[in-house]
Amino acid sequence: MPTSVPALSLEGVSVSYGHVRAVTDVSFTAHPGRVVALLGPNGAGKSTLLRAICNQATKVSGRVTLFGADISTTRTHRITHRGVALVPEGRRVIAPLTVQENLQVAAGGARRLEPRDRTAAIERVYHLFPPLQRLRDRPSALLSGGEQQMVAIGRALVARPDVLLLDEPSMGLAPVMVETIYGFLKEHGATLGETAVVLAEQNRSALAVADEVVVLSRGRVVHAGPASSLPEDVLTEAYLGSATPEPPVPASSGAN
Ligand code: ATP
Repeated sequence: MPTSVPALSLEGVSVSYGHVRAVTDVSFTAHPGRVVALLGPNGAGKSTLLRAICNQATKVSGRVTLFGADISTTRTHRITHRGVALVPEGRRVIAPLTVQENLQVAAGGARRLEPRDRTAAIERVYHLFPPLQRLRDRPSALLSGGEQQMVAIGRALVARPDVLLLDEPSMGLAPVMVETIYGFLKEHGATLGETAVVLAEQNRSALAVADEVVVLSRGRVVHAGPASSLPEDVLTEAYLGSATPEPPVPASSGAN
């Protein structure tokens, strides 16, 4: 395990929506330059947890720290300015704008970025995702789902975040496109530099690019450890455990 100060640390975080408990007592850390896969089935609490880190979901208990500083109650926009970027589920691009314009808007809104550094930050995104280079002047609405996802991740990366939270970037993409995007992230680990990445996914594809894995089931951590040695049965049990049992078929229904 890395010995550096964690970029992000969660200690005993619990989140409720009204009376519904979505996340219970979750703790994990994400270190600079490393990728944590947050795996779990539908409804396990992954999005809630990422939103709670950004103070977009109300924590009922627990602590979130950024390089040791408590950001549990910091307002969302301040958390963003302090270096946490969330790429939410769904591909958030500004459809009528070109790829270049999308990245320029993101760079313009990034308070951590000096105006003179904006161009270099945008070029870094093209370096990370080479297919975007020839699409610079194309309206984002005309891109494929995978290309839009690259733009969405790129928009977060131009701000040079210390912590990048990716919520199911593979959703709705063909497996080959998922592999391509993960491939770029892995290949250009050096480009991502010291950014700590938390990658929430339903499927194990994220393990290909992750250093550590945290498995969630019904809002609780059921496993945490190196991504390279995730026991097969952990995921199976997490996914089976989340399944709602089918109601028994009444004997008199004639079903066989
Ligand atoms: P998915 O993979 O489908 O996105 P997830 O692991 O991200 O699932 P969450 O979306 O965080 O899971 O949901 C966790 C639990 O919280 C679920 O039981 C869900 O129904 C509930 N939940 C999520 N958002 C809300 C909300 N706004 N109000 C009430 N309950 C919610």
